[in-house]
Amino acid sequence: MLKAIQVLGCSHIWRPHTSSGLSFISVSVNPLTSSLRRLPSNSSFLTMSSTRSSSGFGAFRARAANSESNPVGASSSSSSSVAAQSTGGAALKVNFCQWCGGKTKHEIPEGEENIRAICTVCEKITYQNPKMVVGCLVEHDNKVLLCKRNIQPSYGLWTLPAGYMEIGESAAEGAIRETWEEATADVEIVSPFAQLDIPRIGQTYLIFLAKLKKPHFAPGPESSEVELFALDDIPFNSLAFSSMLVTLKLYVEDAKAGRFKFHYGTINKRPGTSPSDIHAFTLDGHLQS
Ligand SMILES: [Zn+2]
Repeated sequence: MLKAIQVLGCSHIWRPHTSSGLSFISVSVNPLTSSLRRLPSNSSFLTMSSTRSSSGFGAFRARAANSESNPVGASSSSSSSVAAQSTGGAALKVNFCQWCGGKTKHEIPEGEENIRAICTVCEKITYQNPKMVVGCLVEHDNKVLLCKRNIQPSYGLWTLPAGYMEIGESAAEGAIRETWEEATADVEIVSPFAQLDIPRIGQTYLIFLAKLKKPHFAPGPESSEVELFALDDIPFNSLAFSSMLVTLKLYVEDAKAGRFKFHYGTINKRPGTSPSDIHAFTLDGHLQS
């Protein structure tokens, strides 16, 4: 599955938009009908501000922190049938069948390569696959819209509006919905900007450039503040997630170069580092078009 995503990320179909802001995607949803969603509580990106400076993109070759962590082990999953497993990988240990509730065993099914949760009653396999997080980098008057999180994880830190994509919506629709929910901002997608895989926690981020349809925004229930930041004022030391750090760094680089590209890359969190250290990763396989 991850390999399939990587192939998708290498696509050259998407073209960067020009500095004139030409829009080639137009998506409309009624944000008022959207259900409330949030960034997952089982995200690995937990809590606290980092005090590391990040003066340049080269800082992505970040050093490891001392603390030991397991992103999945920090989970507060709402599903009673899913429990955290200290594998260092993305998979959660599924103890009960999602269809019949029967107890599962963990074995490699015939013809497969990975350990799966197999129901001991109905014999169905519970497959776990990466989740897609979608969001918007909203541009307005040469500033970007950020939300201060009013919820855990990463309470009090800044992020782009983003959250899990829902079944039944496109990635662009999900990004628009999340932006409405977190920033009460009605936006139009301009172009895809970055796809960032985080294999260790089984997530891939797809962030779109977007613009305000109306010059209005306000904190949604998950945000305590929503603000436009000039590029030089982006609070890089108070960001919530590595994915947002990468996205905003790429955005600033592109803005200064005068041309926005589409970026694909893999964020590899350093094993043994704290999830709260959003600088403890490398950006690998960075492709741009
Ligand atoms: Zn079953």
